[in-house]
Amino acid sequence: MEQLETLWKYQELDLLMDQYILEKKNSESRRQLLKIKNYLVKQERSLVSMDSDATKKNQLLNKLQQEFNSIEERMQVQMERLKSEELDSLDEVEELAKEGFQLQDRIHRKEDELKKLDRELHNFINRIQDIRQRVAKAKDDYVTVKKEYDAEAAGINEELNKLKVQRDKLGSVISNELMNKYRNIKASRTPVMSPLVGNQCDGCNMSLASLMIQRVKDGKRIVECENCGRILFYKESITS
Ligand SMILES: [Zn+2]
Repeated sequence: MEQLETLWKYQELDLLMDQYILEKKNSESRRQLLKIKNYLVKQERSLVSMDSDATKKNQLLNKLQQEFNSIEERMQVQMERLKSEELDSLDEVEELAKEGFQLQDRIHRKEDELKKLDRELHNFINRIQDIRQRVAKAKDDYVTVKKEYDAEAAGINEELNKLKVQRDKLGSVISNELMNKYRNIKASRTPVMSPLVGNQCDGCNMSLASLMIQRVKDGKRIVECENCGRILFYKESITS
């Protein structure tokens, strides 16, 4: 059957195209591109969350600073009172001194909190800057690798286009019925056509009944393997 002979040649080109497509998909530069892309997505996410954390810390810092200022103001007022000698009893002086100590204590605590927060913010900003630098480098890398990949893919695409023209030229003389059958089988297994090797289907290695073998050899109709569903094909040169 002439049609099967042509379909066999069609399949050879089709399989070659599959190889090129796979090569493109598995290319090292494509793998690298995906890796950089994932990295960038991850870093952008952590930058967003760090930015919002930094904002919160900044708000806290402002609040602490205000508290600190108001305690200092209060201290100032009391100091003025002490200096102005408005006080007439010892009790009042003692009261003022007591409050003075308490205020001083609070100031020390706020100072510690402020220092701690300041350190945290500093580390935070350093980390954000570090990530930003690495992100910038990754973006540069992406551009470089993308160029490599594009060049590589362009070469493969050129080959693919050539093969496609040849393949489709063969496909144009194959009946629609056979072509549809080929495509249907291809959707679930490849290669679609399986040569008869000895008395076996080369696709699944199942031994075929002699009547089947004869039908395949006759080549008068399309015979599918009962086991794997592939189109069986007899070709003397590939039969051993
Ligand atoms: Zn089979």
